[in-house]
Amino acid sequence: MTKRYVLPKLPYSYDALEPTIIEEIMRLHHGKHHQGYVNGANAALDKLAETRETGFSGVDTKGVERDLAFNASGHALHTVFWPNMSPKGGGKPGGSLGDRIDEDFGGFDAFKQQFGAASKTVEGSGWGILAYEPLSDQLITLQAEKHQNLTAQGVTPILVLDVWEHAYYLQYKNDRGSYVDNWWNVVNWDNIEKNLKKFLR
Ligand code: MN
Repeated sequence: MTKRYVLPKLPYSYDALEPTIIEEIMRLHHGKHHQGYVNGANAALDKLAETRETGFSGVDTKGVERDLAFNASGHALHTVFWPNMSPKGGGKPGGSLGDRIDEDFGGFDAFKQQFGAASKTVEGSGWGILAYEPLSDQLITLQAEKHQNLTAQGVTPILVLDVWEHAYYLQYKNDRGSYVDNWWNVVNWDNIEKNLKKFLR
C-alpha cells in the first residue's frame, strides 16, 4: 500500500489574513492549488507503484519522477507556508529565533531586506525561503524557481513565502513587491521558532 499525501487543514479561517491576503485567494490557493499538488503527488506515487508491478520498460519514468518532484515539493512548501502565517502575526521575532537571526544576518532589519530581496527577484514562479542549513549550523536565505529546481539538498525550510502569481495576483496584480512588503504583517514568528527548535542543539 502506497503512503498518501494529505491536504493539511488551514490553522485559521479563509478570511483570517485579510486585508493582507483576501479570502478568495486563500480559498483557491489552499483548496485548489495545494489540493492539486497533493493529488498530483499521489498520482505519481500510484504510477510508480503500478510500474513496479508491470515493469519499467516503455514507461516514461523521467516524466513520472518530474511529476513527483514538482507536486511533492509544492505540497512540502505549502505545508510550511500556511502555519508560517497567522492573523495575530507580524512584529519581530524574539527568543532563540531572534537570536539566531541577529547572529546569522546581523539583525532583523538586515534579514528582512535580504529575504525580501530574494523573494522579489525570483525569476518567474517560485518561493523565498529561510532555511536552517545543518552543515554550517546557520540560517540561510534561498530562492526556489519553479520549486522543483535549485533545491539545496539536506536543508529544511522553516519559513517560506509563496510568490507564485496565484498567491497574490487577484489582489496585488503585478505588484509582487507590495505583496511581499505587506506579507510581513501576517508572519507567525512563534511557528517559525517552533520549526527552528527542532534543529537546535
Ligand atoms: Mn502556491
